[in-house]
Amino acid sequence: MNWILRDVRMILPEGEVEGDAWIKEGRWAALGRVPDRAAGQTFLARGAYLLPGLIDTHVHFREPGLSHKGTFFTESRAALAGGVTTTLDMPNTAPPITSVARWEEKMRLLQGRSWTHYGCYVGATSDNLAELRRLDPRRVPGVKVFLASSTGDLLVTEEAVVRRILQESPVRVLFHSESEALIQAARQRWESCTWDDVPDLHARARPSEACIESTRWLLSVAREFSTPLHILHVTTQEEVALLRGRPSHVSAETCPVYLTWSAADFPTYRNFLKCNPSLKYETDREALWQGLADGTLEVVGTDHAPHLWQEKEQPYPLAPSGVPSHGYLLPWLWTIGQARHLPLRFWVEKACHAPARLWRLRERGPLREGYWADGVLFDPEGQTIVPPHLDPRHFSKCRWHPLAGRVLQGQVLAVWVNGSLSYHKGAFYGAPAGQAVEMD
Ligand SMILES: [Zn+2]
Repeated sequence: MNWILRDVRMILPEGEVEGDAWIKEGRWAALGRVPDRAAGQTFLARGAYLLPGLIDTHVHFREPGLSHKGTFFTESRAALAGGVTTTLDMPNTAPPITSVARWEEKMRLLQGRSWTHYGCYVGATSDNLAELRRLDPRRVPGVKVFLASSTGDLLVTEEAVVRRILQESPVRVLFHSESEALIQAARQRWESCTWDDVPDLHARARPSEACIESTRWLLSVAREFSTPLHILHVTTQEEVALLRGRPSHVSAETCPVYLTWSAADFPTYRNFLKCNPSLKYETDREALWQGLADGTLEVVGTDHAPHLWQEKEQPYPLAPSGVPSHGYLLPWLWTIGQARHLPLRFWVEKACHAPARLWRLRERGPLREGYWADGVLFDPEGQTIVPPHLDPRHFSKCRWHPLAGRVLQGQVLAVWVNGSLSYHKGAFYGAPAGQAVEMD
């Protein structure tokens, strides 16, 4: 179906434009002034903002094999409700995605089941370089390297292997940057403690030094190669400082959880904010905001990593790491940026324009005539009420969210995916319209 969105305020790469938008055959046919001959269903936007659909380059939608925690259908639906139209999924599943054959199988599994456009990363191991070499850069968004153990058993600790991957990978290489040796040492010391003994327990068991040492090393190695390299979930002020001197083929991300909370919040949330790397301290959180503002951190990705409530209720050493972060993303970002007077354009840059540019997504990203019509209608004056924990109104399968019970500023009114109206006023329409992403 074609659409004419009347009276929208559009955030284009060049700036803000008021007018109408025409969606024709799944693409933006006109942005600003719609020709008289234009035909389509009229949607009265009444001055709401039209943003490009957000692009989340870091999610764990748990398929294959961990579908009790989440599925592509449920988690992409939660992402969509928060204004996200593209999600790139991590490979630490069961089995992990470590070969071309498994990647192809996963892509087949997702066909027709994702509300968002999707791409799937491939995981590096100590001995799958032959597979990594064969990856198609037009279809595979990247290789994920876990330098420290987290959820799943993907881990690469040999420096020589990391060098070979950077030398030979035909696609962007993404790093979970923590030093496994320092984490093992800290674990020995803190493992037998409880949250009652140590209020910031997880920040001690996964200490700042592990991140700093790993990222310092990674940045030195990055200079030997030209392969694009992306550092995921940066959490410390020292890493932000190190990244200020990074070469241009290195990019970096932080996540909403690290911008919203710090280790000072562990006494309230305990395992429910246990994720890797750990939340750090107030000075770190402030440095992340600074890094985003000055361009040192280009990307905001969610690291959406659902676990069941019962899994999180276990004692500290048994509770899995990861926090669900989808369902309310755009209102969440808009709300936490208020105190810093950040305009909507700021989040469009960090969570759409920059990822689209860095990943070279084909015909997706900014609102641009001829591109696929992935768009979000957003009312910055509206409100979004996040349901309490375990409420069936959560879209994510685990039915809990660290923002439970809060009232957020701003409301996602409607979302179009490839020109299909997929979400409107809290309801989902049609079949999942997500397609596999392509890269230029
Ligand atoms: Zn992750």
